[in-house]
Order: sequence, then structure tokens, then C-alpha cells
Amino acid sequence: MSTLFGKIIRREIPADIVYEDELCLAFRDINPQAPTHVLIIPKQEMAKLADAKAADQALLGHLMLAANQIARQLGVENAFRLVVNNGAEAGQSVFHLHVHLLAGRPFHWPPG
Ligand code: 5GP
Repeated sequence: MSTLFGKIIRREIPADIVYEDELCLAFRDINPQAPTHVLIIPKQEMAKLADAKAADQALLGHLMLAANQIARQLGVENAFRLVVNNGAEAGQSVFHLHVHLLAGRPFHWPPG
């Protein structure tokens, strides 16, 4: 089942892409919650983190390392937050796995 993120991967709808490699794509969130707000998504379709299998271990690690690289590229490597919303009750609204990379303002804990 394809989502609008699938359409962004296939360039059927536009996005402000900041990073791409063979496994993932990263683009700016359309409704940013911080001065830097990027979504990092696998090109492979996976609805949510809870669907990941052992075979996806390398892909999940790849998303973390891509986040590091994107943070460096955008000059926010000293302070950023990664968020994965899993399931509607946790705030997930697009069912294609994505890692939010947020930076550029103070972050509080607990996150709310
Ligand atoms: P979730 O709520 O599923 O964790 O995050 C989905 C994110 O996708 C939201 O932060 C939302 O602003 C973003 N989003 C929804 N539609 C679009 C879109 O068409 N383009 C971009 N760039 N971001 C989108």
C-alpha cells in the first residue's frame, strides 16, 4: 500500500529533498515543528517500526547513520532529536516508516 511518502520517493509529488542514497530519502517536513525538521524514510515500504523484521536490521541502522550525516550536513550535529511515532495513538499520521530529525530549538523532557 503506497502512501504520500511513496509518491515523494517516486517524484510524483514535490518535496524539499536534503539527502538521498540507495536506501533512503530525506526531505523537509511540510509543517515543521522546529527550525530544522527533516523526515528520513526508507525507500522500501514499511508502514511502521513495529513491522520491522530481523532482516531489516541493517536498514534501520542505516537510517540512524543517515540521520547523523544529515545533521552534520545541516550544521546541527551538536544538538538534535530523533523521533519515531509508531501507531496512530503515538501520533503517527503517515503509514510509511519515518524518522523525524528535529533541531534548532531547545527540547524538553518528557516530550509530551
Ligand atoms: P507522523 O505524524 O506520521 O509521525 O509524521 C508525518 C509527518 O509528515 C508530519 O510531521 C507532517 O507534517 C508531514 N507531512 C505530511 N504530509 C506531507 C507532505 O506532503 N510533504 C511533507 N514534506 N511532509 C508531510
